[in-house]
Amino acid sequence: MDILLVGAGLSGAVIGRALAEAGHHCTVIDSRSHLGGNCHMVRDEETGVNVHVYGPHIFHTDHAEVWGYVNRFETFQPYKNRVKTTAQGQVFSLPINLHTINQFYGKTMRPDEARAFIESQADTSITDPQTFEEQALRFVGPDLYEAFFKGYTEKQWGCSPTELPASILKRLPVRFNYDDNYFFHRFQGMPERGYTAMIADILDHPGIDLHLETPFTPEMAGRYGHVFWSGPLDGFFGYELGRLGYRTLDFERFTATGDWQGCAVMNYGDRDVPYTRITEHKHFSPWESHEGSVLYREYSRACGPEDIPYYPIRLVEEKALLADYVARAEREEGVTFVGRLGTYRYLDMDVTIRESLDTAAAFLGRDANQPMPSFVKAPL
Ligand SMILES: Cc1cc2nc3c(=O)[nH]c(=O)nc-3n(C[C@H](O)[C@H](O)[C@H](O)COP(=O)(O)OP(=O)(O)OC[C@H]3O[C@@H](n4cnc5c(N)ncnc54)[C@H](O)[C@@H]3O)c2cc1C
Repeated sequence: MDILLVGAGLSGAVIGRALAEAGHHCTVIDSRSHLGGNCHMVRDEETGVNVHVYGPHIFHTDHAEVWGYVNRFETFQPYKNRVKTTAQGQVFSLPINLHTINQFYGKTMRPDEARAFIESQADTSITDPQTFEEQALRFVGPDLYEAFFKGYTEKQWGCSPTELPASILKRLPVRFNYDDNYFFHRFQGMPERGYTAMIADILDHPGIDLHLETPFTPEMAGRYGHVFWSGPLDGFFGYELGRLGYRTLDFERFTATGDWQGCAVMNYGDRDVPYTRITEHKHFSPWESHEGSVLYREYSRACGPEDIPYYPIRLVEEKALLADYVARAEREEGVTFVGRLGTYRYLDMDVTIRESLDTAAAFLGRDANQPMPSFVKAPL
């Protein structure tokens, strides 16, 4: 079958590869001038640093099959994400761990002492937390909440933590040991050549034609047996019901010589610092050596029609509109909506790959007369 995949990010590439290997002919299009979607990386001309153009991406997963899949196309260098934060005039270790707690309170507590101490700080008068703020106060009390959650969350989401649901903070966000590895996953690493080279190799198959700078037009759909859409769900319908809300990011690039901040990611928790974090890209490739350095100051704001959608908001209003678009999409034949934009969910790369492999398997495994569903993974 001739199949159209809209989007040359991870979703389009992984689904396209699986279908091409099964003997289908796949056309992959992307409106951008490069492949890789938001995982795209470019080697900076001035410094030679491999830059994460749409924000830093660290690969981490618990799925052995997904780890095996990416290692088929790329060598992964060991990498642990260790994030710091500047707040209230000091630098602290994240996620909040025993080092952070001892430094913040000027103490030398052991795990059980720290656990009891944090419990004594928690606001136990909140028995049924409804908002993010209540949940944080219930877990860690006002001091840690002010320093590490309040300002950062306001900047990231553009609203008060009193307007966000408690579900965002599901578990106690504190570790009572000195483990500062940001992710718990078994497999973690960074692609030696970068994600763009890895995704280019996924797409490198005789059954795949890639066309960049090619936006989707509705007439295209009729020429193919099936369409996999990894663009914005609302965009497929010309935003006819309104726009699903996203946060966008502005990256303010600057360069330096040597080591500017001593780590890859420095968050800024204080409300009066307008950016949420600074990333120093050469620290994401510690096996490389560069004299120059490229850094991004990252600012978060509401996404307008011309901006790149980054984080789906998914609060009550957005979910109501999403339900309308899902109903609309389910009436559509010959199109399957995939990926972070097509299903309006935040998806880590490993989840994107897992779902893409499952989507291709569902397509290949169905009876010839059985229609492919609009969603393999329900957005709601
Ligand atoms: C700031 C940020 C940081 C992240 N960091 C991490 C991380 O550290 N670790 C991790 O595992 N994951 C991370 N992610 C998640 C990761 O970016 C996603 O898992 C991944 O990009 C999803 O791939 P995708 O193909 O679904 O979407 P995308 O990468 O967005 O690809 C969709 C593609 O579709 C194209 N397209 C859209 N509309 C059209 C159209 N009409 N016509 C033609 N083409 C179109 C777009 O140009 C785009 O290239 C991060 C995400 C963000 C936003």
